[in-house]
Amino acid sequence: MARIVMKFGGTSMAGTERIRRVARIVQRQQAAGHEVAVVVSAMAGETDRLVNFCREASALYDPAEYDVVVASGEQVTSGLLAMHLQALGCKARSWLGWQLPIHTDDAASKARIEGIDSQALLASMAAGEIAVIPGFQGLSDANRITTLGRGGSDTSAVAVAAGIKADRCDIYTDVDGVYTTDPRIVAKARKLKNVTYEEMLELASVGSKVLQTRSVSLAMKEKVRVQVLSSFIDETAPAADTLPGTMIVSDEELEGLDMERQLITGIAADKNDAKVILTAVPDRPGAVALIFGPLAEANINVDMIIQNVGRADTDTDVTFTVPQADLERTKAVLEANRPGIGYEKFSTDPKVSKISVVGVGMRSHAGVAATMFKALADRAINIQAISTSEIKVSVLIDSDETELAVRVLHTAYGLDAE
Ligand code: ADP
Ligand code: ASP
Ligand code: MG
Repeated sequence: MARIVMKFGGTSMAGTERIRRVARIVQRQQAAGHEVAVVVSAMAGETDRLVNFCREASALYDPAEYDVVVASGEQVTSGLLAMHLQALGCKARSWLGWQLPIHTDDAASKARIEGIDSQALLASMAAGEIAVIPGFQGLSDANRITTLGRGGSDTSAVAVAAGIKADRCDIYTDVDGVYTTDPRIVAKARKLKNVTYEEMLELASVGSKVLQTRSVSLAMKEKVRVQVLSSFIDETAPAADTLPGTMIVSDEELEGLDMERQLITGIAADKNDAKVILTAVPDRPGAVALIFGPLAEANINVDMIIQNVGRADTDTDVTFTVPQADLERTKAVLEANRPGIGYEKFSTDPKVSKISVVGVGMRSHAGVAATMFKALADRAINIQAISTSEIKVSVLIDSDETELAVRVLHTAYGLDAE
């Protein structure tokens, strides 16, 4: 017998028929002798709908009230799934975030989980009851409902798995695993049997939304075994215990599993950043600190940064990217700090896309970046900025060229499925 957390995403929970199918998948795991906790998302599109209501209420809505509104989608699906499970003859009940509780900090709309009280949950599971937990929500010390940022149900599931020391956390979604790139964009994408925590963390952070980035870092830290698999299956599908999806594994495990790995594991695209160019910034020590200090204070995450070679030793241009959602605030910060920084002018461009190639093989092989630059150059795709980490190379390009760039790179690194 194992203790398993099963998480079902929005598409899997969208409507009565799909929730009924989810209930059957859960019932089958319990019938196989496992103790089961289930974490659910709101129905697909529901959270977007609720976010819109908040925006319509006020452009500068109160984030704490936003959390009250947007957390409701998961309350609905958790109750409905418990009902469907009961209709199949299972014992089941919902546990809302405040009932367990799932403790978070008080950063409304992007709260972090600090801990989960799991005694009541464990007692009910031991008594044969299936626990259904709404994802995405928690409770702050100030006794207010919080939410964990978009896509946060993945993080709820991993946190529950860590809290109850589950043997595995199965993330059921609308694709049957993690692919070399988004299979909805590139038809030739290949499913990966295994991917390391580190690679998955990089892929998620550069735009592969199949898992929320925080869920991967939490799984890595708490050593939770995570599998990504499809909920669109029938009774004849292989059991989840045979690991039909993609397993997230450690570096050491991977070495034993797959000696013949490709150099590049995956490619991701992210259209959510915007480019900012500051011209004629004084070329002297401390100048960039004056730009990025105030942005950091305003909680704006700067990603790619390029400082050009100075002109006649007096000034230089500085280019960087920020999340599009923070562009207006970035402009305000730059305006306010113009006298201190002393730049001439700034321009912004939201029509950019960041394309990243990720793979642990990069550590031991040279030439990954060169292959990328050549493949893009051959298709006349212009690179506007570059950044690298130990296992990743990212470039910034015109967003109109996103799909083409991903396809070209997928072929260039030999990732295309036969
Ligand atoms: P859920 O609602 O189940 O949480 P998401 O929409 O958040 O599902 O994530 C699943 C989606 O992630 C897939 O439909 C797919 O389009 C997208 N995706 C992006 N990159 C990848 C990748 N490398 N492998 C698989 N899916 C990916
Ligand atoms: N429903 C939330 C969202 O759409 C959380 C999730 O589905 O993971 O972002
Ligand atoms: Mg998701």
